[in-house]
Amino acid sequence: AKAEGRDRFEVFDARLRREQAERIRTVERLREGLEAGEFTVHYQPIVALRGGAPVAFEALVRWTPPGQDPIGPDRFIPAAEDSGLIVGLGEWVLRQACADAAPWYPTYGTTISVNVSPRQLAEPDFADVVRRALTGSGLPPEALVLEITEGVLVRSGAHAELTLAHLTRLRADGVRVAIDDFGTGYSSLAYLRDLPIDILKIDRSFMPDDSSDAQQTALVRAVVDLARSLRLVTVAEGVETAQHADLLRTLGCDRGQGWLFGRPGPAPGAADLLYDWRDG
Ligand code: C2E
Ligand code: CA
Ligand code: CA
Ligand code: CA
Repeated sequence: AKAEGRDRFEVFDARLRREQAERIRTVERLREGLEAGEFTVHYQPIVALRGGAPVAFEALVRWTPPGQDPIGPDRFIPAAEDSGLIVGLGEWVLRQACADAAPWYPTYGTTISVNVSPRQLAEPDFADVVRRALTGSGLPPEALVLEITEGVLVRSGAHAELTLAHLTRLRADGVRVAIDDFGTGYSSLAYLRDLPIDILKIDRSFMPDDSSDAQQTALVRAVVDLARSLRLVTVAEGVETAQHADLLRTLGCDRGQGWLFGRPGPAPGAADLLYDWRDG
């Protein structure tokens, strides 16, 4: 039994080592890809549920290594976060998104939402990085939304203080803060109290399969009511059907994002969407 246990341990050990080697290779390729310009940013519209106007876009990073199909962020953001590479990658996405969105704002008033990892918010110069991206692109602070998750306060106390200081400074500049994937983490309600936020994004897992099922709609109703009572702008994610949109309108949700309104795509397509909406 003892020998068997050791064999099993060795098998486990070998797998761990293989996984670790794989991770290291991924991080190495990410680093090279960042230098070689293999990343792009796609934009997905966020629309006003009343009237249907595109009022914002979310910037979503894509990675296309040479000769391969684009890889979605779910497959490389975790490795980028573990390795700290997310700091450089996130800064690149921020600058790219501000540059792409700068010409849209004066004409259409659309804001741009950028995902920010907890790692970035724990950097001492994060607020300065954001300010430089704004001045460099000419995008006014009011046109930028930073999307953060409940994970930002999970790190140690010192990091949490730094995170709060960054968010407070940037909000004083006019930048807005959205809490992303709301309802999927833990202590959600305490975070609403502790984080300086303006916008609440309801995670797509709250979208009901059947919008006429009172059980299924009870949660999304409760979240919208809560957000509204806190005077937060509400954005529902994963709006895939007209039934979803109808339900959300009935509940008083402000905005929707999802396949019903448009998939993420390159910047020129976002500009076309804005043009067609107003003048097309
Ligand atoms: P997220 O912030 O929750 O972004 C929304 C995700 O939902 C996107 O996946 C989007 O393509 C997808 N989506 C949009 N509409 C629908 C819909 O109607 N139905 C369904 N089923 N899905 C929909 P994507 O682009 O694969 O991004 C995945 C996650 O990767 C993002 O989730 C975000 O957490 C992360 N991410 C993306 N870009 C960045 C980035 O620049 N920095 C960081 N730190 N994270 C990023
Ligand atoms: Ca997001
Ligand atoms: Ca989300
Ligand atoms: Ca998500």
